[in-house]
Amino acid sequence: MRFISTRGQAAPLGFSDAVATGLAPDGGLFLPETLPDFSGQLQRFEKLGYAELCFEFLRVFATDIPAETLRAIVAESYTRFSHPDIAPLRRLGPRLHVLELFHGPTLAFKDFALQLLGNLYAHQCRERRETINVLGATSGDTGAAAIHGLLGKPGTGIFILYPDGRVSPLQERQMACTGAANVFALAVDGTFDDAQAALKEIFGDQNFRTQHRLSAVNSINLARVLAQCVYYLYAWLRLPPGERDNVEFVVPTGNFGNVLAGWLLQQMGVPIRGFRVATNQNDILYRLFTTGEYRVGAVQPSLAPSMDIQVSSNFERFLYYGLGRDAARVRAAMETFRQTGVCALADLDRSGFSATRCTDAEIPDIIARVYREHGYVIDPHTACAFQSHHPDRVSVVLSTASPAKFPETIQAAIGVEPTHPTLEALKARPIVKHRIKAEPAAIKRFIDEHGV
Ligand SMILES: *Cc1c(COP(=O)(O)O)cnc(C)c1O
Repeated sequence: MRFISTRGQAAPLGFSDAVATGLAPDGGLFLPETLPDFSGQLQRFEKLGYAELCFEFLRVFATDIPAETLRAIVAESYTRFSHPDIAPLRRLGPRLHVLELFHGPTLAFKDFALQLLGNLYAHQCRERRETINVLGATSGDTGAAAIHGLLGKPGTGIFILYPDGRVSPLQERQMACTGAANVFALAVDGTFDDAQAALKEIFGDQNFRTQHRLSAVNSINLARVLAQCVYYLYAWLRLPPGERDNVEFVVPTGNFGNVLAGWLLQQMGVPIRGFRVATNQNDILYRLFTTGEYRVGAVQPSLAPSMDIQVSSNFERFLYYGLGRDAARVRAAMETFRQTGVCALADLDRSGFSATRCTDAEIPDIIARVYREHGYVIDPHTACAFQSHHPDRVSVVLSTASPAKFPETIQAAIGVEPTHPTLEALKARPIVKHRIKAEPAAIKRFIDEHGV
């Protein structure tokens, strides 16, 4: 299988090269050249456990990795989840289920993709007899999940920049208490934007980039999107047959990566009825799906911080299909958006989607209501997906983080402070972080000294 760019001006690549490249050289995002049709295999898939299902799905795309190698990579990627089902589906009511995606090592859904991506990177290091240094900036969850994906993997180094004093204490501990020699938590003297700007400059230095075999952590990697298709398939297969054709997935959304994966699976012949895009008060996607206009706003920090995004990096993949697979139109739309911050997309095919938005004032009320009605505690991101549900459909809400990651918000909403053994264990371990100036020269020096 080959992978093409949404902007149509980059040569198609095989799976491993597309994963290693990340962003396509023409500035676009990689997509499968053709979408496979799984409709004839669903019955066979019913019997498979999570890792085996993931392997059967990915082998159709990762055709350049020998099957047994891929099977081992996938199996390894789901060994560090604490629930035997990996992604358990819980029924809350006659037409309501929750898909719990927070049983991985950092207790958020990003583990599904980043555990796999870490093992794919490690495989590539072995295969090509090279080392790689992964560099990223984070305001929280992604950095922790990326670190835990590469933790202790031979041939890899990982450097994550975060604004010192501006991530939650638990998030900092998830990055800085690993004890692994190949992990570097870099506490930047500055804001997230300062860190991001320094990083951009470092990636712009081609010599440095090649010399250290630098790779970026970001939400647009092809492997992340494909890994995320699998839990939709797993959930769909676990629904009673009478509910399957009427299911709507309700997805807390920021960068559009999670919901895009579900939509792609639908395009691959799995009869999902629809998707509900649930945003917080940063509502660019809510506005797009309700009005057809894609218009950037200013980011307002919220109680669901991993969704505090106003430009959704994975949206371009949806745009490609929604504009009839016309790469020239994608280029024109993205260029208009870049220059003016707005793009009219009235003829974009939005069928099958609905959208809700949730303000900060509503989040604690929703957490309290769900606790009262179902005796079930949800985190602030998942709360956005309980705003409202389609009256005639079976709703499957994707729960993207463990409530224990947000003890203050939960305590304020229901008077109970959630805990989790993984997080309690972290509190006993020393924080090892490196304070650093948000300057490219200082960061490069650090990588020179500590990189692999
Ligand atoms: C990253 C994240 C999201 C948003 O996911 P996207 O793929 O960016 O839409 C939602 N909830 C949590 C807890 C996250 O970490």
